[in-house]
Amino acid sequence: MNVDMLMLRLGEIMLKGRNRARFEQVVLNHVKRLLNGFPKAQITKDYGRIYIDLGGEPADELLKPLSKVFGITAIIPVVVCTPELEQIQEKAREFLGSLSIEKDTTFKVSGRRVWKAFPHSSHDLNRIISEPLLAAFPCLKVDVKNPELDLRVEVRDDRALLYCQVLPGAGGFPLGTNGKAMLLLSGGIDSPVAGWSAMRRGLEVECVHFHSYPFTSRKAEEKVIELAKVLSQYSGRVKIHLVPFTDIQTSLAGAGQDNLMITLMRRAMLRIATKLAEANDALALVTGDSLGQVASQTLASMNVIGRVTELPLLRPLVTMDKQEIIDLSQQIGTYDLSILPYEDCCTLFVPKSPAIKPNLRVVENVERSLEGLDDMLEKAVQNTVTMVLRPNSQIHYQEDEMTGSPDFPRHDLEKPVQEQGIRGDWF
Ligand code: ATP
Ligand code: MG
Repeated sequence: MNVDMLMLRLGEIMLKGRNRARFEQVVLNHVKRLLNGFPKAQITKDYGRIYIDLGGEPADELLKPLSKVFGITAIIPVVVCTPELEQIQEKAREFLGSLSIEKDTTFKVSGRRVWKAFPHSSHDLNRIISEPLLAAFPCLKVDVKNPELDLRVEVRDDRALLYCQVLPGAGGFPLGTNGKAMLLLSGGIDSPVAGWSAMRRGLEVECVHFHSYPFTSRKAEEKVIELAKVLSQYSGRVKIHLVPFTDIQTSLAGAGQDNLMITLMRRAMLRIATKLAEANDALALVTGDSLGQVASQTLASMNVIGRVTELPLLRPLVTMDKQEIIDLSQQIGTYDLSILPYEDCCTLFVPKSPAIKPNLRVVENVERSLEGLDDMLEKAVQNTVTMVLRPNSQIHYQEDEMTGSPDFPRHDLEKPVQEQGIRGDWF
């Protein structure tokens, strides 16, 4: 794509005044970080728009990372020239030439004179620009109502902008503008989508994952880390807390209440996640629950499970169909990882007939009967391993060092990506 500029349209955020300025500033900072590997690109902001003057940097390499910036509704590749009629006509011809139009295409020019001293009105511009184009490209047929190709020409006092392609942006609220939440991230299809949805609403997300090593394999954990890395493509970086859950699970299983096992595990998870949220200033928990999907996600189960936390429990997928969730996971890039067949800690203890209508009093009694449960929860928090992941973080898994102790040096983040010459990332 041979263009001079990328124009970013910011969301029609229903916000005015200071809040709007703050939101736009967050998007601007996000985009600036993405441009770190593109030193020739220059960035400027106007009301509701960001302009990236490429200065020769390749647009194609920027499109993908930019499509993951929340708060941007459209990405528009633009050809730029001086605001003079002959220049504009020539550029328009060159631009359409580069599109290699071969079959009949309906077309119009939408001119806009922003610079009022320009000698041709918006209306005149349409005609003056389209006429020579129609002569040069016989495939073009005028259709002013619903054209396949709409060449937009914006004449400003310092330059003219020409574009015809408007690529969709990620939309939503800019990163972290609505606070921070703790996402319960399993290796399944749902929770990564829930995390992405929360991020798209402007939440900064930290992930918490419960593993049952050595009952669950390192591969299972690696998969979750890879999933968190995909989420980090949208935020630049993501913190993940890996919580050892083996002892707690074993203890819960010892209660001999097979059909309540999932309820008990979920409650323990939420309790730990709440402690981690409080320690990390997160004000809500996010899960991938979808109503009715499995036994632990009936309304009765959600009710008994959710009682253990006073934090708001956000369930972005609660009313979505599985197929909608799958479609989203494919779109955001987590699906292929999610379907890798590694076990989750919960799958180890799936009872034959999990309670779909657990009784709160019974559940609380079982928990009371388990000696030292609170201490175990606290210990799990103490032994949690936290990592910061970036899209290109290299994680080394050293199988032979996996001793199960909390502070073993299993994960070793490599050098910042910039040093490796990877572009379009945050460093
Ligand atoms: P998912 O695809 O997210 O695993 P699921 O349909 O398999 O969802 P469950 O296994 O019932 O659902 O889990 C419900 C929610 O509980 C998950 O979406 C996730 O938020 C949380 N959860 C389950 N297992 C774990 C885990 N090992 N670590 C962290 N969170 C978990
Ligand atoms: Mg799961």
